[in-house]
Formats: sequence, C-alpha cells, structure tokens
Amino acid sequence: MILDLETIKQLGERNQSVNFRFRSFLKGGNSTQIDRVVHELCDFYYTNIDCTKCGNCCTVLKPQIHKKDLESLSLATTKTIDDIKKEYILIDEDGDMSFNKLPCPFLKNLKCSVYDCRPNDCRSYPHIHKKDFIGRLFGVIDSYSICPIVFNVFEDLKLRLHFR
Ligand code: SF4
Ligand code: SF4
Repeated sequence: MILDLETIKQLGERNQSVNFRFRSFLKGGNSTQIDRVVHELCDFYYTNIDCTKCGNCCTVLKPQIHKKDLESLSLATTKTIDDIKKEYILIDEDGDMSFNKLPCPFLKNLKCSVYDCRPNDCRSYPHIHKKDFIGRLFGVIDSYSICPIVFNVFEDLKLRLHFR
C-alpha cells in the first residue's frame, strides 16, 4: 500500500498513458463484475486508509455545495447561512456553489473542522464505492494522483484483472 502523497503524485504523471490504456481495457469489461472487485478493494482501503490523517482532497479539490450543505455548515459554525455564503462560498454564472478558496477554509492542520457536518460531496468523495465504476473512469484517473484510496484501488485492480 502506497500512502506517500508526493510519490502518488509522481506516479500519477508517470502512469498517465498506462492508466488511459487501462481505462480502454475496463470499458470493454463487464460492469457488474468489475464493480464487485472494486467494491471488495474499497472495503479494504476505506478501512485501512485514514482520511483524517490525509486531507489531500481538501487541499486541491473544491466540493460542490448545495443548500442542505449550507444548513449543515451553519449548524457546525453557528454562523448564519448568509454569513457562510459571504465568507466561504463562490457562486458561478450557472448558480453552482463551491468554496471560495483552496485549501478548503474548513481544513485546519490537515483535519476537517466541520467533519460531522461536512458537505455531501465531501462525504461521497472519491465516489468509487458507487455503482458503475467504469462509467466514471475520467474522474477516477483524475483522482488517482490525489487520493491514496483511488491510487491503491486502481493499482490492485490492474493486478486482479491481470492487466499488463
Ligand atoms: S468541508 Fe471538510 S471535508 Fe470538505 S473540503 Fe472542507 S475540509 Fe475537506
Ligand atoms: S478521500 Fe482520499 S484524498 Fe481525501 S482524505 Fe481520504 S484518502 Fe485523502
């Protein structure tokens, strides 16, 4: 298991073309069977990688924020929803909301300071435990160089499927 973030970033660059070749290989596979293997690997890596000791996604990615998330953040910070929007939220031309800076303003010493009330997109990241893994492979390859869970699941999947 590789956990070092700098190593993972470098391997992300080095393995880019192999990863896209693996993507094509997976696209020709059986989605249900691949999901079964991925979910087995997820069970292992979600249990054995501690997100509270990593926080890398919070330094490089902006989660999508929805109205419900504003309510949770308001609860966690005891600030009003209007104040949360003013202080932390960016709204784009389509009306979509995200945090206004990176790393996330709620990340303190590599830990989420609103963990129990964090946005749904944060809870769900890196999304590989969901159905239809082969339908989200661009996102998986993007996250490969960021998230140790994705990196290790993807590498183990290559081995399990005898990909060369
Ligand atoms: S709210 Fe918490 S989990 Fe979400 S990006 Fe910010 S620090 Fe990370
Ligand atoms: S989801 Fe991935 S990148 Fe984010 S904290 Fe957990 S292991 Fe790190």
